[in-house]
Amino acid sequence: MFTHGKKVVTRMAPSPTGHLHVGTARTALYNYLYAKNKGGDFIVRCEDTDKERSTAAFEEEIIAGLTWLGMSWDAYYRQSERSEVYRPYLEQAIADGAAYRSKEDSTREPGTEIEVVRLKNPNKTITFEDEIRGEVTMDTTDLGDFVIARAIDDPLFHFVNVVDDHEMGVTHIIRGEDHIPNTPRQILIQEALGFERPTYAHLPLLLAPDRSKLSKRHGPVSLTQYAEKGYMPGAITNYLALLGWNPGTDQEVFTLDELVSEFDIAGVQKGGAIFDIEKLRWMNREHMSRLSDDEFRIMVTDRMPDTQKALPQYTGARLEKLAPIIRERVSVAYDIAQEAEKGEYDFAFAAPKPPAEMLMWKKDEHVRDPLPRLQKVAEILSTIPDACTADDAKNALWNYAEEIGKGEVLWPLRVALSGRERSPDPFTLIHILGSAESYKRVQSACDTILSA
Ligand code: GLU
Repeated sequence: MFTHGKKVVTRMAPSPTGHLHVGTARTALYNYLYAKNKGGDFIVRCEDTDKERSTAAFEEEIIAGLTWLGMSWDAYYRQSERSEVYRPYLEQAIADGAAYRSKEDSTREPGTEIEVVRLKNPNKTITFEDEIRGEVTMDTTDLGDFVIARAIDDPLFHFVNVVDDHEMGVTHIIRGEDHIPNTPRQILIQEALGFERPTYAHLPLLLAPDRSKLSKRHGPVSLTQYAEKGYMPGAITNYLALLGWNPGTDQEVFTLDELVSEFDIAGVQKGGAIFDIEKLRWMNREHMSRLSDDEFRIMVTDRMPDTQKALPQYTGARLEKLAPIIRERVSVAYDIAQEAEKGEYDFAFAAPKPPAEMLMWKKDEHVRDPLPRLQKVAEILSTIPDACTADDAKNALWNYAEEIGKGEVLWPLRVALSGRERSPDPFTLIHILGSAESYKRVQSACDTILSA
């Protein structure tokens, strides 16, 4: 539009008055992707002029969140440190007759008189071209001569927002569609100050699956909550990028760098984008599957609850062998602790004590029936090396299982090793436990049967 040949500059302008919402993170991401795709600058501007509601803790949370997501910025500003920038513009607007001082009763402290600054509204229709929504036209008459500063040294949100975008060379304003009603006001201020109009792109809102506005009652909405659950930053940026943007191909899994090269504002939809936690979990699983075995093992070690670490056979080596099983079962790091707490992985770290009845295959009639089979299995186990693969275990046991009946042999073996109705297959269990521990467990199952 007016930006031909100019370096693209986008900005994220958060107010540090609350937790970093996933929607705000998406706005930041789109600004980042757009700028980096065009070889431009992405800046962060902390809009902390509301002194009562802004806090340093929220500002830190925003910075930490964006950093965690892998974004970096070319400049960082804080509006509270820029008051000397705004005053000359306000004085200029007054001198030009585009704004005027007005003595009024304070609404905050009734009975006191203050001198606010109001914009002289030319009462006209504003039309702007939105990159996502097309032409938007709004009549500004109803806005009246709105207040742009509470005092000459206390400019309000719209005024500082416009001045900063101009001062910082912002070429593209990409923000949520809840800001559309602000745009005509801001354009009036731009025109009053003689600024060039930037390009606007208003993003569709994030919706809950019931199509209402996404809020806390639908689940976690702050980025920190997702980080704490162990979502991977790359999965979040990937998911947020696709929440309202269609890459135009079948590709769904992108790294941040790939997003930078593919992002195009033309692929952003107008309609609300539904935030679907199941899709996010799927995305996280995709990103987790790209972790190396070492990286995944670190994640698993990190997430294992202390109750598991206290079990008698807990060792790093055992955990390492269990890790591939865990990887198959979880979508988010948080699931690891959840599954562990349900006892899903106890078999790896403590010898189970399954009752004799549980060792019976469905065709068995007496608790003693599995005994000779388990004794034979123990004999076979004593012939294979302790550090064996699942295939080694299978090769050693398979002929016997085929001869006697797979259920008859493998069911009691699996229960003897895991103590559970459901578990990984017995060969995998032998690999995880080693043949020596497996032998001990089978022997112990035999003892249970003998004393039943
Ligand atoms: N500070 C405003 C907010 O957090 C954003 C303003 C803008 O993006 O223009 O809602």
